[in-house]
Amino acid sequence: MSEFEQKVLKLLENINGKLDKLLKTEPSPMNSAPTTTTASTPTPSTIKPSAIVEKQEEEARLEEKPQVEGRRICPECGGTTFATHEDRSQVLHQMGGVKIYAKKYVCKQCGYEY
Ligand SMILES: [Zn+2]
Repeated sequence: MSEFEQKVLKLLENINGKLDKLLKTEPSPMNSAPTTTTASTPTPSTIKPSAIVEKQEEEARLEEKPQVEGRRICPECGGTTFATHEDRSQVLHQMGGVKIYAKKYVCKQCGYEY
């Protein structure tokens, strides 16, 4: 198993753990509300579990990004070959007169930039 796959697995395990906690602390809407109150009276205080999962998955993706240097996958075409360009309009860091620029990744297959 590759290092990247292990990292992804770990993230998934973290999400699973959080979900388990949520399911234990939140009363199940299936048992407590047998009537059709979910559609007619939406309560803003209760967040749908699916929304939480989506948010956590998004956070996991954001955390993941910088770790997968050289293992990027194009969100547009799924390509794995990228050209890197320095984005000189964005200086990330400056140290002893040496500037570190933000990098742009351009998919070699479809030209998608990010
Ligand atoms: Zn692409």
